[in-house]
Amino acid sequence: MKRLWRHRLSIVAGVCGLFLATGLLLEGLGRPPEAARLAYIAASAVGGAPSLWLALKALGRFHVHIDLLMVLAAAGAASIGHWEEGAVLLFLFSTSNALEFYAVGRTSRAIERLVKLRPAQAWVLRDGTPVPVPWDKVLPGDRVIVKAGERMPADGRVVAGTSAVDQSVVTGESVPVRKTPGDAVFASTMNGAGTLEVEVTATGRDSTLGRIIQLVQEAQAQKSVTQRAIERVEPYYVVGVLGATALAYVLGRHTLELSVTQAFYRSMVLLVGASPCALVISTPASMLSAIANGALRGVLFKGGAQLERLGQIRTFAFDKTGTLTGARLEVERVHTFDGMPPRDLVKLAAGVECGSEHHLARAVLRAAERWQCGVRPAQDVQWTEGLGVSGEVDGRRVFVGSDRYLREKGLKLPGEAEARIQQAKDLGKTVILVHDGRLLGLLTVADRLRPEAPAVVRALRSLGVTRTVLLTGDNTHVARDVARATDIEELQADLRPADKVAFLHELRDRPGGVAMVGDGVNDAPALATATVGIAMGGAGTDVALETADVILMADNLSALPYAVALCRRARRIVIENLTFASSVIVVLSLCGLAGWLTLPVAVVGHEGSTLLVVLNGLRLLRGVPDPLAATASESPQPVSSPERSPA
Ligand code: ADP
Ligand code: MG
Repeated sequence: MKRLWRHRLSIVAGVCGLFLATGLLLEGLGRPPEAARLAYIAASAVGGAPSLWLALKALGRFHVHIDLLMVLAAAGAASIGHWEEGAVLLFLFSTSNALEFYAVGRTSRAIERLVKLRPAQAWVLRDGTPVPVPWDKVLPGDRVIVKAGERMPADGRVVAGTSAVDQSVVTGESVPVRKTPGDAVFASTMNGAGTLEVEVTATGRDSTLGRIIQLVQEAQAQKSVTQRAIERVEPYYVVGVLGATALAYVLGRHTLELSVTQAFYRSMVLLVGASPCALVISTPASMLSAIANGALRGVLFKGGAQLERLGQIRTFAFDKTGTLTGARLEVERVHTFDGMPPRDLVKLAAGVECGSEHHLARAVLRAAERWQCGVRPAQDVQWTEGLGVSGEVDGRRVFVGSDRYLREKGLKLPGEAEARIQQAKDLGKTVILVHDGRLLGLLTVADRLRPEAPAVVRALRSLGVTRTVLLTGDNTHVARDVARATDIEELQADLRPADKVAFLHELRDRPGGVAMVGDGVNDAPALATATVGIAMGGAGTDVALETADVILMADNLSALPYAVALCRRARRIVIENLTFASSVIVVLSLCGLAGWLTLPVAVVGHEGSTLLVVLNGLRLLRGVPDPLAATASESPQPVSSPERSPA
């Protein structure tokens, strides 16, 4: 029953076609015209019923639906004895509706296929032995064994084993990612050659892939700006067409002195030719396809509006730490004052940082792990975004952050320290100071550029991005190095999160607005302020999924040029579709008025243009060529990354 319902549109079209064929056959065999007419009436009744129902339902809500035009045109044709043409009209209309339904359905089927990637069962450890359990009975907290070549049954954290995992379903990255104990793995990703023991953290709809699918479905339900505009004018347009049809009849009768039947027939042709089905479907078909393709490539759009906006933007602002520079920062040097052992300093700093998600905080924690200091979490931890963290340790308050943070807290820095800080900054290092009323020591962190960053900026330029800005809370020296290496023109350093927001406010008012690319960890206000907020690392952080307009699932920048190219292409296709659809309407209406068209020809023109527009939009489902690949092969020196040998 459910399957029949799913195919209702094609069943309607099929039955309508059968009656139509019967009618034509009876006529051809020279049977009495009443018999043929009966068949045409049956065809019209079947083919027109769904549209009539929709149109009446809309009228009940004081809305005019485009299907009303089709029903009226068929009824009009029948009323002047053109039963056959009315039936042909409704048959073509219902057929094209069925085709449209399947075509547009492809965009959601592309996403539904992801659901099927999960394994039917998982091997859950019960008292140390693996037991097969159906996937939906796996619970957070369970430990599962994932063998080589199997897919992960749920999100989790690796407890034992190492393996390379193909995460392309979630992040779009084609290169497998090495997983060692402590690393996160995602449901439905494919385990490589090693066996992993995984502690489950989230399952089913709560897993990363589950949330991606949900997000894409929500995004596809969101309307783009163009679509909303079209839907706003649609009722007026439909009423306008009805008015024009009546006017055409009156003019035909009195100016051209046509017979009642001729004038009425022409106005019915106009009614069909001018109806805006193609205009209405042109935008959603393209948006749905682009959103689905993005999701398959690890780029999530929150909706068509966001996609359209990104397609127009020519100014890009980048956050530095965690965005242009690597997510895996390392503490390089530890310097202490007053003879404090360096290990104690790292332990103290790690205790304060252990609640923070900041990339620098994670670097400190990794250092503590490497030095095996044993971290003791501080009490009453307080963050100052973009500056640092403080916490209570053994009854004293310890501050960990930039020199600016300490100064703002009214703490004094001895002269010797000033010199050291300056020295580290001159070398392009990020400096973290530890202070508990007197300066205890400093940690230097090397901010390593992501290997793909320069090529990404270059690829964006090739896509027509004219202005690039680096926004950072870090010191000018480090920022200048990064800007130079990536060839970003403008630089704003030493910014507080509030300053970033103020600066973006300014950029947002320029034509086209500004896109802000951040790591999604601590850039929420900036991402929200920009015309389009783009967060990366969506597979690892929840914040990114919530605050950004566009999310790059992988923790790298490579998908950014692709996302922009996809949006640009989508915009172009929407413009093509709108131009084409409106030209067809103009041509059909004028030819109809001049009496050059029969009703079936007008119908074929109208339905044909609708289908063409849908198919043109569906081309986006196949995606666009990756601009990064194009610019990388142009450039003489490919940016080498440690994993990939230069081609
Ligand atoms: P960016 O804008 O480059 O991403 P942030 O605004 O996140 O940088 O941070 C700016 C500066 O504030 C950092 O370079 C660092 O000196 C300091 N800082 C911020 N958060 C922390 C933290 N949790 N621990 C230590 N230092 C921090
Ligand atoms: Mg940052």
